[in-house]
Amino acid sequence: MNIVIVGGGFGGVKTALELAKNKDVNIKLISDSDDFCYYPALYSVATGHSHLTSWVPLREIFQNYNNVELIKDTITSIDKATKNLTGQSGKKYDYTKLVLSLGTVTTYFGIEGLDSYSFGIKSVEEIDQLKNHLQTSIADSQTTERHYVIIGAGPTGVELAAALGSYLNRICQHYNVKKADYSIELIEAAPRVLPRMSEKTSRRVTRRLTKLGINVQLDKKVESASVDGIMVSGKPLKSHTVIWTSGVASNPFYKNNADQFEFDERGRIKVDSQMRSSDGVYVIGDNASTQYSGLAQTALHDAVFIAKNFKRQLSGAAVDKYKAVMPPVVVPVGESWAVFEWHKLRLYGWPAAILRKLADFMGYHDILPIGQALGVWRAEKIMEDDFVEANRKKRNR
Ligand SMILES: Cc1cc2nc3c(=O)[nH]c(=O)nc-3n(C[C@H](O)[C@H](O)[C@H](O)COP(=O)(O)OP(=O)(O)OC[C@H]3O[C@@H](n4cnc5c(N)ncnc54)[C@H](O)[C@@H]3O)c2cc1C
Repeated sequence: MNIVIVGGGFGGVKTALELAKNKDVNIKLISDSDDFCYYPALYSVATGHSHLTSWVPLREIFQNYNNVELIKDTITSIDKATKNLTGQSGKKYDYTKLVLSLGTVTTYFGIEGLDSYSFGIKSVEEIDQLKNHLQTSIADSQTTERHYVIIGAGPTGVELAAALGSYLNRICQHYNVKKADYSIELIEAAPRVLPRMSEKTSRRVTRRLTKLGINVQLDKKVESASVDGIMVSGKPLKSHTVIWTSGVASNPFYKNNADQFEFDERGRIKVDSQMRSSDGVYVIGDNASTQYSGLAQTALHDAVFIAKNFKRQLSGAAVDKYKAVMPPVVVPVGESWAVFEWHKLRLYGWPAAILRKLADFMGYHDILPIGQALGVWRAEKIMEDDFVEANRKKRNR
């Protein structure tokens, strides 16, 4: 069987790992990046913790699997009739079974200026740009920005807002800059923070954020961004540090090949009970129109499900039907404090923070052997002062 997997993220990597346990199966894993990205730790990398927690080279993950061929390419088109993919490199890849797990991309919902005047935290380049900006702006002007603005109070915005204050303090300390009064504004268009979680959780998290000194602004729409700041519900807010954490859209690959897929109202791909979008083409993770897509654990669940079914098909057994499983959600809100929600169970404070640490460890162990997973997990404790040091040297030259 010629199995091709596209996407070196949660869904793609887990599918390849599960299938590769069978040494008779050969797999091509095509990704546009050399690394697997552990998105849940990005907020912590953006606030000075080690990048080792977020980027794991794919060749390290698959070093013991000779039956997985890693290919770096960006897949641009698909032809279902001839069972062929084409990459940006111009190469063609044929398949008998294809798994697509391409994840999402950032969208600005057409808000004027946001793409030019806001920072993101979804890639290593974006995070480097943000950290570089935070450090140089403090070091050069010998003071902090008056308003640091984070747009979007979903999990990423909340995690980042809660961690930003201590990072700014550390930068000030490092450059011997006297800390001036500054505010961290968290702006959300919905009437509450973490709108997908319970109302009780939103209230608790708002209280926690306020206690941490974050200025939470709800029901506020960002209308435009410029070099000097943003317009929020008709009022200007001056800032040179605007961070956009809202807005994800399905990978453009699907729209660019729209005649090959069926879409739901959110632009995700419709799949059948085996997660097929058509004969031999499986779509999983964030791209699949399933109840809990949009979470890493769902992508992992989907990967395990299709890998099991592939094995069943190989052995001639009947295949299973997909069942969506609600994953627990844990959001850290500052040091040693988090919220945990799963069905009706809710935990707040340090017990949830411990669960988050465990969830991270399990997340790494899902893709790495226990020793390596432990190493990556413990890297969270490493603060990246090298980066700050490099900046200082650059300026003193
Ligand atoms: C900042 C942030 C924080 C998050 N925090 C959490 C959290 O705490 N808990 C949680 O459960 N979920 C979290 N998520 C969501 C979670 O990361 C996603 O649900 C998960 O990554 C989905 O897995 P996936 O395989 O569908 O896509 P991804 O993991 O995004 O993988 C997609 C892969 O496809 C590659 N790719 C894309 N296009 C192409 C192409 N055309 N050709 C080749 N390769 C391509 C990409 O480089 C990437 O390697 C977070 C997401 C973000 C952005």
